[in-house]
Amino acid sequence: MNGIVYHPDYDKYDLGTNHPLIGNKPKKTMEMLKRTSMISSFTEFTPTLAEKEDLLRSHGKDYVEKIERLSKTGGMLTFDTPAPKGIYKYARRATGGTLVCGSKLFENYSIMVNPLGGFHHASKNHSSGFCFFNDISVVIEYLRTYYQLKKFMVIDLDVHHGNGTMDIYYNDSTVLDISFHQDGETLYPGTGSLKKIGAGKGEGYTINLPLPPHTGSDAYITAFDRIIPSLTHQFTPEIIIYQAGVDAHHADPLADLDVSVQTYYRLAKAIHSLSERYSQKLLVLLGGGYNSDACISAYENVFHGLLHHEKCRVEKDPNHAKNLDIVDTRISNLQKVLKPYWNFS
Ligand SMILES: [Zn+2]
Repeated sequence: MNGIVYHPDYDKYDLGTNHPLIGNKPKKTMEMLKRTSMISSFTEFTPTLAEKEDLLRSHGKDYVEKIERLSKTGGMLTFDTPAPKGIYKYARRATGGTLVCGSKLFENYSIMVNPLGGFHHASKNHSSGFCFFNDISVVIEYLRTYYQLKKFMVIDLDVHHGNGTMDIYYNDSTVLDISFHQDGETLYPGTGSLKKIGAGKGEGYTINLPLPPHTGSDAYITAFDRIIPSLTHQFTPEIIIYQAGVDAHHADPLADLDVSVQTYYRLAKAIHSLSERYSQKLLVLLGGGYNSDACISAYENVFHGLLHHEKCRVEKDPNHAKNLDIVDTRISNLQKVLKPYWNFS
């Protein structure tokens, strides 16, 4: 069984006019699911408000209270992240949605989706990139506390590097944190080099694949196929958390990876198959996506993939096959860096 969470508060997680974060994206996603009748494959649940104690497993007290304070009057958290009035409640609603998803995975639901989740730029005591609370980490700590889970796999395909999640779990071997993103030399937040592989007990458990601008669909899929299935097989996660940001799409105004909508179908289908084989628990957080029409089409294909539909939306693919060689070299370099920890046959 599958489920999804939504609440009208989601529309209020809006950082103002002229800000790329689209406040009505979750609502548009729900409308798309109704239009395509895919909503009938999902049970709807209401997100709760995350409790302060849930947030404090991942974030410092001062940081959480700073957001609580800013939220009373409105202000700026960081240079690119305004904290509008009421944001403390709306960000806790978004995080609460991820927590509801996490617990439903223990009530016979095998796929749970939060259309307002995947805030991967929030670290323990700092954030930017339109994020307040790192719901990926908050749900990991929640499942660790209440369900005694020990092996979490994060597959973060948002075009931006998941720097907050990486910072929180850099020394932790219980979270295999994989991020595919556009090269930090050409895109915010500038981090995520393939040499960043974790430290201490967590050495080998942080995996970064920075991709060059105009990577294109074929090269992206090749990278996925050569890295992700093999790692899943070796790590055998108890849950897969899929940050399904669609800002690698070619029409996205913030980035340049140039993948097509049909690529999202292929990726979601592959991740669902991995979850069926290894974890039986798949938590999907829809992450970033900043071109309204294209991003809803890309999400539509994420859902077609999750539901193993035969068909998906297809568009003309601006594929850049010429970049396959460059990406191929990066994949080989990443496999070389990871050789002491993982086998790639
Ligand atoms: Zn993003």
